[in-house]
Amino acid sequence: MKPIPLATPPEDAAARKAIAPVVCYPTETLPRPDLSAYRSIRDSLASVETITVPPRDARCFFVPAGHVFRIRSVEGPQVGDLNLWNAHDLSERFYSGKTRALNGTHVGLGDQLYSSFPHLRPLATILHDTLDWYGFDAFGGACHDVIGTRCDPYTHALLSDGGQYHHCCHSNLTRALAEHLDMPLVEAEGHVHDVLNVFMCTGFLKETGQYFMKASPVRPGDYLEMFAEIDLLGDLSACPGGDCSTGHSSDTAACYPLLVEVLKPAAPPKGWTSPPVSAYDRTHGTETEE
Ligand SMILES: [Zn+2]
Repeated sequence: MKPIPLATPPEDAAARKAIAPVVCYPTETLPRPDLSAYRSIRDSLASVETITVPPRDARCFFVPAGHVFRIRSVEGPQVGDLNLWNAHDLSERFYSGKTRALNGTHVGLGDQLYSSFPHLRPLATILHDTLDWYGFDAFGGACHDVIGTRCDPYTHALLSDGGQYHHCCHSNLTRALAEHLDMPLVEAEGHVHDVLNVFMCTGFLKETGQYFMKASPVRPGDYLEMFAEIDLLGDLSACPGGDCSTGHSSDTAACYPLLVEVLKPAAPPKGWTSPPVSAYDRTHGTETEE
């Protein structure tokens, strides 16, 4: 938050503040998928597997490259916290911060979820979003953010004088990954990362810049659908905040399960190939330049 200022403004303060912003990463140079080719596979999708994520818990799932997965609301309004990894190399994982810098605070149709350095390639592409009608509301809120991190027991302890709560998304994702890979809990925890907040409705207060949440507009039947660009290991937590209308990190909110549906198209999108890792040579200026 910005405090009440103590410093004396310079004479040209108003002029400096009046400078118009520029978008950090011009979207004209960001490679974008051929959405019509991607979306044409939607008519031929056949169900491969359906995984139920119990409330206040998480489950892992595998999506082969070229397949599609849907995160679906069932029973009641529920927010999901999603982690994604390269199924064959957990060091390549979803990079929420760079995805935000490239696509904006909230992702939607056609946006791609990028992986961590040194890979930086699309992991998944959003094919369909039944909540795309929501856009931005009068408060600046929107769905599917890449600004929140994930609810976690450390922040809860910080804000509640050492309180212990074990079903935050961070813990749910950790337990599910440890169980899925038969990995020690401590090791699994190190792989859990900042999430895509599926269905969560969030924004920043204009006056203070504080992160806010409000009741998600998601209803049973709504879904977010993504295309897997590489073989993916997913981990989805049904947040203890339920629709995140009041709080989280407790058992007080109404919570519902989420479904993950893995689907196979008859053929991949025309012209599609699984994306290569970043073209950067990784010498970081140590090679002599000619
Ligand atoms: Zn959560």
